[in-house]
Amino acid sequence: MAYQDELNTSRRYLMGPGPSDVHPRVLKAMATPLIGHLDPEFVDIMDDIKAMAQRTFQTQNHLTFVVSAPGSAGMETCLVNLLEPGDEALICIHGLFGGRMADIAERCGAKVIRVEAPWGGPVDPQQVKAALEHCSPKVLAIVHAETSTGVLQPLEEISRLARESGALFLVDAVTSYCGVEVKVDEWGIDAIYSGTQKCLSAPPGLSPVSFSERAVEALEQRKTKVQSWFLDLSLVRSYWAGARRAYHHTAPVSAMFALREAYRLVLEEGLENRFARHRRNHELLKRELEALGFEFLVQPDYRLPMLNAVKIPEGLDEAALRRRLLDEYNIEVGGGLGQFAGRIWRIGLMGESSTPNHVNMLASALRAIL
Ligand SMILES: *Cc1c(COP(=O)(O)O)cnc(C)c1O
Repeated sequence: MAYQDELNTSRRYLMGPGPSDVHPRVLKAMATPLIGHLDPEFVDIMDDIKAMAQRTFQTQNHLTFVVSAPGSAGMETCLVNLLEPGDEALICIHGLFGGRMADIAERCGAKVIRVEAPWGGPVDPQQVKAALEHCSPKVLAIVHAETSTGVLQPLEEISRLARESGALFLVDAVTSYCGVEVKVDEWGIDAIYSGTQKCLSAPPGLSPVSFSERAVEALEQRKTKVQSWFLDLSLVRSYWAGARRAYHHTAPVSAMFALREAYRLVLEEGLENRFARHRRNHELLKRELEALGFEFLVQPDYRLPMLNAVKIPEGLDEAALRRRLLDEYNIEVGGGLGQFAGRIWRIGLMGESSTPNHVNMLASALRAIL
């Protein structure tokens, strides 16, 4: 394809760690003619998105909105707004994304206490408890669904420890959101961010975020300005939640149209049905992969249904195999990251990609190649 040619990409089946396949209704919404981002009709659309973000996060939080940038910007939004230079932050790390949170917290000037668990398992609440005997962090942060390892982290006990120590509880729900239960209010989560391209099945580039009243108070009591102008919630707030919508930046209008439709699809299906579908297709994939000789990396209790981390059988050239899946079958699966590069595959069954057809396509392609 040369630049003079009309854009013409292959029809891929997205079964990696994101983006996931997108419903035709979402693509159609994205092609809606533009309106201005301060048009009263667009303000209504922002209100719809906010209401649907609250329902899917299972929260009443007033400060629930969407950052105009991908999941990593949601992560950065939470950390730069809650941390000031000199604050302590306890960051749980059991994969790549926990490490990214620690990096950002350090760039905020925070004193970071790392609680690390081996990749492939969850963080043990006892580790957190022990660490809290030697520090009193302002923020305690953890990844709910570690996309680099396929681990689902139980949150409720760690949330209780955070609350008892007086820390704000910050959760990365980029991969878990809309694929497994995420109960912001019931689980005492003070700040949470996600992304649109995983189980929500909208195009990449936006990050739903929610802050509790306690987190908003922490923001209001800051002694220093947030070092990022773009992500400063004291400014973004009046754009998303103010009585008078003040110009802050130009919202990505088409991406918001798409997100609104993706949310409508989630709520039409119902959260419980959606979670059950993700579990069912994970079970189906598990049977197929185990019959082909693949072993799961993670113990059954902590496996993510939407991100299946499997070890590569001895003697297989995993990069060549993934390339054949892409070239010959149009199927994308993810390779390993960090210490798991070359050693595992990360097979995503997220949102619109979580169907029996996706599982059957991959299984029969693998049977044909192997
Ligand atoms: C994908 C992901 C991110 C980053 O999201 P981007 O949209 O790629 O910036 C952060 N945390 C987790 C757990 C993720 O899976």
